[in-house]
Amino acid sequence: MQGWLLAVSGGFFALGWIFAMVRQHLLIRAAARAPQRMAEAIEKIRSGRRLEAADFLLESEYSPGGTSDLHLVAASLLREQGEYGRAIQIHKRLRAAAAASDADARAQATYELGLDYFMAGFLDLAEECFRQLADSRYADQAMEKLLFIHLRTRSWAAAVDAYRKMEEARPDLQAPRSILAHLYCEWASEFDRASRERIEKLDSALQAWPQSVRALLLRGDCALVAGDAAGACEYWNRARWQPGLLFMLPERILDAYAKMDKKQEGFDQVSQLLAEHYSPALLAATCQAVRTRFGNKQLMPLVEKALDAKEVTAAYEWLEVHSQNDDVYHKLHQAMLSDPGKRFRCTSCGYRSSHHSWQCPQCLAWDSVEQSDASVE
Ligand SMILES: [Zn+2]
Repeated sequence: MQGWLLAVSGGFFALGWIFAMVRQHLLIRAAARAPQRMAEAIEKIRSGRRLEAADFLLESEYSPGGTSDLHLVAASLLREQGEYGRAIQIHKRLRAAAAASDADARAQATYELGLDYFMAGFLDLAEECFRQLADSRYADQAMEKLLFIHLRTRSWAAAVDAYRKMEEARPDLQAPRSILAHLYCEWASEFDRASRERIEKLDSALQAWPQSVRALLLRGDCALVAGDAAGACEYWNRARWQPGLLFMLPERILDAYAKMDKKQEGFDQVSQLLAEHYSPALLAATCQAVRTRFGNKQLMPLVEKALDAKEVTAAYEWLEVHSQNDDVYHKLHQAMLSDPGKRFRCTSCGYRSSHHSWQCPQCLAWDSVEQSDASVE
């Protein structure tokens, strides 16, 4: 489960995990087949002389079976040290040398070669290697790396396909469906807002995970573009279950109610939302949406109402404004609009941003960016 989450999140940590697995597996097998030479090599590795260890292992003459393991360990060490060119040469040679009848040895060399290309940044060549392994015992690992590559290259159609295949092949991993919904949403964004394709992808996202806030918001947007304001509101109402994401609603609600000729009712809705679920981001989003559609006059009672809520005291103090004049509201509003601060923080890597994103731009984890209270501390 843990490995799966790391791998699909696309973080750099996943690489460490992947290569730790590869190395351990290779070392144990090589040590069993050539104990003396490996003992010497391990001594060099232990004392930090990894390149020397690699050269030492490569001195052993290659022959199919036993000593090819030593070359695999050597190449793995070289890759670890960033010597991708040499690792690639060795793995190519091992692949070519593997007897036609030894499909397993060929597959292993191909897999390792794919990892070399991947680490060196030649993602298209890596993809080619991993694609050849569908019928080998490396099929699952190769599929995982392919998914990784599709996420990196933002090839969403291919990523959805790989994710579904992984789910089928490894039901024990319990792949989170929320991520599959994200992949469909990304794919949907490649199509025009009013297009049939976009709606199809978003419906697939909701089929994968009916609670997906992102898919519900986007699907509601499509309904609104198509002129179905009431339908749009139904989708958005279903998206209210995550308090930290409510700030995405005010603009949408106001526009939908305006389309239904119920402007005032829309205003009452967003006021109520803010009163019930105050957060700095929701306050900022509400202020912005109301100001651009109603003007400053309408904004004042809204902010006043928000100030009555207990949590707003923190924002109030943060501004160090203690006078009770109308200016307070104006200042609070201005502060929220002009300096939103780095209000969002990735719970996975700590990255801070003034904007929300579904996938952390730094560690690439999904749904890890949350509102933090730093701006009102
Ligand atoms: Zn992050």
